[in-house]
Amino acid sequence: MGWLGLDDTDHLGGGCTTEVFDSLLRSLPSWVEVGVPRLVRLWPFAQKRTRGNAALGVELRCDDDSNLIDHLDVYWREYIEPLGGFQSPSTISSRVQVQSSPGMVWFSNRPDERYYLDAVRKEVTLGDAPVPTKSWGGAGQIGAIAAVSWPLHRVTYEAIAWRKHERYSMSRQIDSNVIDAIDGWPEIVFSRDPRKGTSLIAPRGQSPVLFGVRARTYDGAEEAASLLIASEHTEEVEGFRVFATNQASGDHLGDSIHAKLLGLEVHPKRKHARLDTDAGPMVAFFEGGPVNQLARWLVAGDTIEVRGLLDTDGVLHIEQMQVISFAPRRKQRPLCEDCSQRLKSMGAKQGLRCPSCRRRFEDDWVEITPSPPFNGWVEPSVDARRHLARPLAWDDEK
Ligand SMILES: [Zn+2]
Repeated sequence: MGWLGLDDTDHLGGGCTTEVFDSLLRSLPSWVEVGVPRLVRLWPFAQKRTRGNAALGVELRCDDDSNLIDHLDVYWREYIEPLGGFQSPSTISSRVQVQSSPGMVWFSNRPDERYYLDAVRKEVTLGDAPVPTKSWGGAGQIGAIAAVSWPLHRVTYEAIAWRKHERYSMSRQIDSNVIDAIDGWPEIVFSRDPRKGTSLIAPRGQSPVLFGVRARTYDGAEEAASLLIASEHTEEVEGFRVFATNQASGDHLGDSIHAKLLGLEVHPKRKHARLDTDAGPMVAFFEGGPVNQLARWLVAGDTIEVRGLLDTDGVLHIEQMQVISFAPRRKQRPLCEDCSQRLKSMGAKQGLRCPSCRRRFEDDWVEITPSPPFNGWVEPSVDARRHLARPLAWDDEK
């Protein structure tokens, strides 16, 4: 018995490591007992990442490891090795796309979690990795080893269904009534964008994946996928499988950081907020919704607590934030005593006047109490969160 890992068989033009892994598992002889396969998301800024940056792993149990490894050897040469060297230009990203470089690993004993924790938070190399019992291929070994090293801490599940190859060019058909029904199950998570009312379960663009249903239990994911597939309003699928995943684990974020704001710059058109802080540069992108709104409201001197990911330029991408203390805001004119309207200046040394009842007052300024758009921790809306992001509402759970 031992652990198998696989990564980097896909590229933007097509292919999907989950489907390749599923085929590999289906090829195994009947004397091999297959554990729950795992789909592990890794550091989103990794230089050699593939689309979605997910790697696969599984525990395999049998009495004869050498026979199993012979089988894997043959399968590797015939079906996986030929997937290497593909590359296609991205239409959505200027990032240089690296060629697919499949990697597969076998560990007789599961390595500890250290390599996984590094691979989910920063750039790692193969040189840093625990050495597999046997390995095949290239750079994909990095993700494969990380997937095997994941300690199954804070697990969620995703049932993934793959399309029939002949349907790839057609638009996806998934029964929306079933999506509505399963969306009400307590164990189903992130199946719908609550603001737009749209489904999050189908991937965008070209992919062999028809849908992925995420759930907090294995059974919930399996039942939901079975119902979707059984409907005559869902297209016929090649098959489906439930994966244990580190999605929604929050494992990519280290400890929170306290910082004092030194300066704030908001992009005039795109509204991204760049924060200069005593703990380094940070950014809150417009897509982050509430996080961006709160960031744009800040003034120099405010102190904040943030959790985020450092990109390759050393800029922290804020994923969660709360305000700890406020610096004084610019003073304002007082309110009218009669109608509570904000008074206006009549000009230098002319006093103030209420724009509503026209009552006049002496020249004056008042402190205003800072009133942030949100209190406590904020996070992006569900459609804008990373796969790895753990919802704030889950924070008090184990
Ligand atoms: Zn008034």
